[in-house]
Amino acid sequence: MEADLRKEKGSDGETGVKTFQFDNLPSKLRENIRRLGWEKPMPVQSIVIPYLLEKRDIVVQSRTGSGKTGAFILPMVMDIDRDADYVQGLVLVPTRELAEQLTKVLAEITQGTGVRYVAVYGGVGYGPQIEAFKNRVQIIIATPGRMIDHLIRDRVSLSKLRYLIFDEADEMLSMGFYESMMKIMSFIPERRLTALFSATIPPGVAALAQRFTNNPENISLSSDVMHVEEVDHVYYVVDPMRKDRSLLRIIEMENPQAALIFCNTKAEVEYLAKFLQNFGYDADFLTSDLSQKNRQEVMQHIRKGQLRFLVSTDVAARGIDISELGYVIVYDLPQAHGDYVHRAGRTGRAGEGGFAISLVSYIEEVDLKKRAKMNNLSLVKRELPSDEDVEQRVDERIRVMLEEKYRSLPNSIRQRLRRFIPLSKKLAGGEEEMHVVAMMFDSFYQETLHKPLYPYERATTRTRRRPGSTERSGRSRRPDGRRTGQRSRTRRDNPRRSR
Ligand code: AMP
Repeated sequence: MEADLRKEKGSDGETGVKTFQFDNLPSKLRENIRRLGWEKPMPVQSIVIPYLLEKRDIVVQSRTGSGKTGAFILPMVMDIDRDADYVQGLVLVPTRELAEQLTKVLAEITQGTGVRYVAVYGGVGYGPQIEAFKNRVQIIIATPGRMIDHLIRDRVSLSKLRYLIFDEADEMLSMGFYESMMKIMSFIPERRLTALFSATIPPGVAALAQRFTNNPENISLSSDVMHVEEVDHVYYVVDPMRKDRSLLRIIEMENPQAALIFCNTKAEVEYLAKFLQNFGYDADFLTSDLSQKNRQEVMQHIRKGQLRFLVSTDVAARGIDISELGYVIVYDLPQAHGDYVHRAGRTGRAGEGGFAISLVSYIEEVDLKKRAKMNNLSLVKRELPSDEDVEQRVDERIRVMLEEKYRSLPNSIRQRLRRFIPLSKKLAGGEEEMHVVAMMFDSFYQETLHKPLYPYERATTRTRRRPGSTERSGRSRRPDGRRTGQRSRTRRDNPRRSR
């Protein structure tokens, strides 16, 4: 039997409602979320749901794990007209993984309600997705690229869409979905409700919000506090013997546009910068051996997006304003207690969040907690991602970026590519040839993700340039300071690159 999801909607009867309780939900939904173990709304839910019930556009700064999924799924499901045979809600997400995860939550929440939905993402056949469209789905959870494929081919219509949700908008932009998102806009009605969720709100996301939302309410929350937090303090417990490798995993998962990495000693600073360079990252270092002028120059590079990672000692970075950086990584916990705050507090522009990420051993964890308590900071512990987690994320990124690139090719080039299809088939089969394929993926990944947006010609020999990265010197500078050479437009709109 299908439950009536509407009758208790808005039972608190207020406008601009301040908070939301699960008692306000229709009984069927209450039952379903109880099965999920949700007893009371998380802060993001109690704050955000009333706005959506009041049909107000919102831009929410909220990270994964905060309960944001429930914050947009619950009000949307309450309002879906289950007798209608058209798409009413579209949730755009960056990855297939997230699409699947959200679909599972949607399945739980809508159990027994008759709401029809489908997950739409690339890398799988079109058949089941088309079948779902024929079955008149009401909610679609999609990655932008595959969604636009269907829209262009007229397989589904969004002309009566009422809810447009962006989840992890910053990640979507960093994966190069800007063009697809803009194209989607031409397929949806102007009058609709838009909610945008993003862990960070760099200029790229702010611009996206401006294009898609109408006079939105801006809400900023961190995982478990209701007030605005400028800096999220996160830490990972790592094996001291494998700290450098752990840092790589964190960088791959977080994918920061730029970060300042603090170490305790000059030797460690130099080692880590080299280590990152060897793995293909754009990294430089700063120690007190450099003159003040040189230090300022290096800092300018990272600020302007010309350099991605800067490894430094405290001494070297002292007195330099780095407040525009979104990420500070405390690789070594400083010896002096007050210095944690000094390091971690170096990020987070006013009104925009930043992340301070610490890597500590089990023994140091106790110390870090003590320091946080003394300074009244809320610390969040995160599990170090496994190699498999990283592999999955990187695979997904590469696949999505390649698909996106292919999608943007003109027909003439698509035709030209066809001559390589027989070779691709041959290479895909053999164990030996796999290395060649892997090399192609590696070079694509380095080219698109590891490099800074605006590379600069290093004036000093402090850091040796990576072997093989010859194209940098081959490029000339454009009047706007960018280098010539092929870079997709979406890279410019990459939020991680625009901070
Ligand atoms: P999300 O940020 O939406 O991915 O949610 C993070 C986790 O919190 C998920 O495991 C959810 O199932 C869980 N969760 C969401 N809302 C609630 C709630 N109201 N009470 C307890 N857990 C929740």
